[in-house]
Amino acid sequence: ETLGENRLDDDKIFSSLPPLFRGHPEIHLRKGIIDAAMRAGANEVDAERAFFVADLSQVYRQHERWTKNLPEIVPHYAVKCNPDPYVLRLLAALGAGFDCASNGEISQVLSIGGVDPSRIIFANPCKATSFVRSAARAGVNTMTFDNADELFKIARAHPGAKLIVRILADDSKSICRFGIKFGAPLEVVPSLLSKAKELGLDVIGVSFHVGSGCYDPTIYGDAIRRARDAFVMGSQVGYQFSLLDVGGGFEDARFEAAASVLADAINEYFPDRKGIRLIAEPGRFYVSRAFSLAANIIARRAPMVENCLEPLDPKPSSDEPSVMYYINDGVYGAFNCIMFDHQTVNPYVLSLDGSFHISPSEPLSLCSVWGPTCDSIDCVCKAVELPEALQIGDWLGFDDMGAYTICASSQFNGFKFSNVIYTTSKGGGEEVRRALCSFAAKGHGHGVC
Ligand code: PLP
Repeated sequence: ETLGENRLDDDKIFSSLPPLFRGHPEIHLRKGIIDAAMRAGANEVDAERAFFVADLSQVYRQHERWTKNLPEIVPHYAVKCNPDPYVLRLLAALGAGFDCASNGEISQVLSIGGVDPSRIIFANPCKATSFVRSAARAGVNTMTFDNADELFKIARAHPGAKLIVRILADDSKSICRFGIKFGAPLEVVPSLLSKAKELGLDVIGVSFHVGSGCYDPTIYGDAIRRARDAFVMGSQVGYQFSLLDVGGGFEDARFEAAASVLADAINEYFPDRKGIRLIAEPGRFYVSRAFSLAANIIARRAPMVENCLEPLDPKPSSDEPSVMYYINDGVYGAFNCIMFDHQTVNPYVLSLDGSFHISPSEPLSLCSVWGPTCDSIDCVCKAVELPEALQIGDWLGFDDMGAYTICASSQFNGFKFSNVIYTTSKGGGEEVRRALCSFAAKGHGHGVC
């Protein structure tokens, strides 16, 4: 069931999901993709259109993992990572807070209903003045800063704001580094805090971000030590900080290790933390694995050596891709993560020559996969092992497509965004439904049940 143009009709969710998607643990997500693709055959354009499958129970399980490993730290989901309306509702229902980067994100979160503005942190240290004013009007008071001009701006536009100084952390072990753009080095923090005091502003705490996709969990220990130093600097200027925000960057595969480093460092540097609220801004941790993408092979270019009048010059070598597959989502769409989020993606075969039963012994060769636009930069995989026998109309699947994909997609060349189909196919569907239903019963979430 595809529920509209990427924006879903509330009444249709869950009640309309086919039984396949209702949490039977034996049904693999991939089968869900295949069946959905087959069902979509009603209309030729929709039938071949690429689509995401979002497994909401995976988001639920990540939340369980979070609360088990970091029970003291309230996650404020980084909306920018994937502002999917049902992910937001589920996390709202589960009691998470939200990290918003703009007034658009703030409006989206507040429009869910049931999220008090105090659950939102405006975690962009460089905001437009009009955004600061609209945050004030919306009752969103908690916001970050890392420079003096932002303080002057906030003093004018939202003097009652609760401010968090974002300090510079070591981001050298992250896929996406932020330190070049954001974060006050510890040396400038005392003067920033003095200026805030002089302006009569209320600074309540400290945040940092180790960079997105942090592959060295030990970095969190160093960041907590820096945050402790910033707390001391705050007290020297006359503030008593009450909030520590440990940011985002949590990688799925290294989450437990990062949580353990974080918890140890908090115990070491904040042994007496009564009166200090701990929060974080995880993004990719929640959604990365929850979304898969199915894309259709719309065109194919393969050498027709036997029909060539002249022998190919130079002859294709065996270490060069033999077949080029063109699919209907690319780097200007969901695969923008290759450009912006430095990702590599790994296609797998969902259907081969029209059949969804694929022999494991199917011979593979080096192929390349391209997006649908007329730009040659639109390359999804330069060289990947795939069967040469894939045909136009076959489907490729891509897992781990939930983070920084849909949110930054464009419609370049007139290609539409890929739809999202919602499932709870890996189990946990009951918990997801219960959370959303009790949220809806309180009058929030606009009838998601
Ligand atoms: N917080 C802020 C301020 C960010 O800029 C980002 C990502 O850009 C995040 C949180 C989320 O980071 P991640 O998705 O790596 O957890």
